[in-house]
Amino acid sequence: MSVQAEDVFKKVISHAKEYGFVFQSSEIYDGLSAVYDYGQLGAELKNNIKQYWWKSMVQMHENIVGIDSAIFMHPTTWKASGHVDAFNDPLIDNKDSKKRYRADVLVEDHIEKIRTKVDKEVEKAANRFGESFDADMFKQTNPRVMGYLDKITAIEDRMRTCLENGDLADFKQLIIDEEISDPISGTKNWTDVRQFNLMFSTEMGSVAEGSNKIYLRPETAQGIFVNFLNVQKSGRMKIPFGIAQIGKAFRNEIVARQFIFRMREFEQMEMQFFVKPGTEMEWYESWKNERMAWHMSLGMTADQYRFHDHIKLAHYANAAADIEFKFPFGFKELEGIHSRTDFDLKQHEEHSGKKLQYFDPEENKNYVPYVVETSIGLDRMFLAILSYAYQEETLEDGSERVVLRIPAKLAPYKVAVLPLTKKDGLPEKAREVIDGLKEDFMCQYDEKDAIGRRYRRQDAIGTPFAVTVDHQTLEDNTVTIRERDSMQQDRVAIADLEGIIRRKLKG
Ligand code: ATP
Repeated sequence: MSVQAEDVFKKVISHAKEYGFVFQSSEIYDGLSAVYDYGQLGAELKNNIKQYWWKSMVQMHENIVGIDSAIFMHPTTWKASGHVDAFNDPLIDNKDSKKRYRADVLVEDHIEKIRTKVDKEVEKAANRFGESFDADMFKQTNPRVMGYLDKITAIEDRMRTCLENGDLADFKQLIIDEEISDPISGTKNWTDVRQFNLMFSTEMGSVAEGSNKIYLRPETAQGIFVNFLNVQKSGRMKIPFGIAQIGKAFRNEIVARQFIFRMREFEQMEMQFFVKPGTEMEWYESWKNERMAWHMSLGMTADQYRFHDHIKLAHYANAAADIEFKFPFGFKELEGIHSRTDFDLKQHEEHSGKKLQYFDPEENKNYVPYVVETSIGLDRMFLAILSYAYQEETLEDGSERVVLRIPAKLAPYKVAVLPLTKKDGLPEKAREVIDGLKEDFMCQYDEKDAIGRRYRRQDAIGTPFAVTVDHQTLEDNTVTIRERDSMQQDRVAIADLEGIIRRKLKG
């Protein structure tokens, strides 16, 4: 991470704490590693993201319904899903810094460095050749760039083979051959690569009765799979259809860092879309597009996002892509779109002895549906929004402001109502205005300090609209409404406020 990016990221983290978005869990006991609590504003933002997702996935799709399954599941679920045997990350320690890393992440970071070299060459050439420059052609013909790209492919291929064959010795050799050093100690003094299962376990019932090991779910998807027939039958669902769910998931991550990007307890918003076998690739492409369109609908710019096709497919997938977001520490996975085949349902059929099939009236036969999944981390979406939204601006009069340009529909508070002064009946009038709005929008009342400082406070928590009640209000029942981003103010009738705000939020 560049010094500048690191600086921005640190500021985002301290801003999140200062204004009540995110706190370290059990902070008074010095915190718990990679576990966080959401404060009063964080809880609002998180709920708004959930609602926006739920609305666009469930409410807007006739053929998608939502469920809420338990965190604890029968332990055989995880045997069937492959998590007991295959939900491992390869880990490696540096003997000098004593730091632990995910071996695949080390290699991916190394690849990213080579990619940066490619980008630099392209940029240099673009400057040299001007308008006639064709970046694709350049990449295909420039020997140096071709060398870099071949190297990337070779490293990716070797890593994939290591992971597919479980060849951890060669994985370590890859790290040695590529001369990857520990970013902290700078040395190449590595231990062997080992596998580490990421599931948390606990016991259910009294231990004296015989221990019964159960797991905290590492993904919400399995709660959907085991309920596939319940939902299909009780909801009379016809293929293609989807089941959505939002809920907690738990992973004992090896390297838990980067704030709420990688947590040990987090929340997922997942949707499993059940389709006719053979149609899964069409649906996979269609969901890739639809999910990207969802992100775009929030108004963050397209250059913040990119697709990344997986080189290492999970044990259940036949195609997978990530939607990556440009976090302050670089492009990283925000959401996964996976074509999971009929793997999960077939596994559950086998382990439970129950049929999980769909009778297709058009085909007049039973089959196990194929599944295309969309899976987004709620906390990562939260971080994406917060880090994108955080901006420091110098205003025309030379003063500075920190503004959170959170998409208005997701902002914790939608409206701040501010009496210009604390006297002359303005506070009472402002309370009246709030009473007219608070059933529809989260509102905040603030009468302390000069109006400019109050605007700054609202900017800093991302409130899109500030309504100011002044002396003219008492005469003609109009107020000013100020927009956070443009800082433009308009005078409007109190009676029109609700409609105006509603329209602006929708737009
Ligand atoms: P990564 O490669 O970053 O570990 P993953 O590929 O294991 O992620 P998935 O299993 O595809 O992730 O999970 C779906 C989504 O859940 C991810 O896109 C991410 O947004 C979120 N997610 C996964 N692990 C975590 C975590 N430890 N903390 C926060 N969010 C997570």
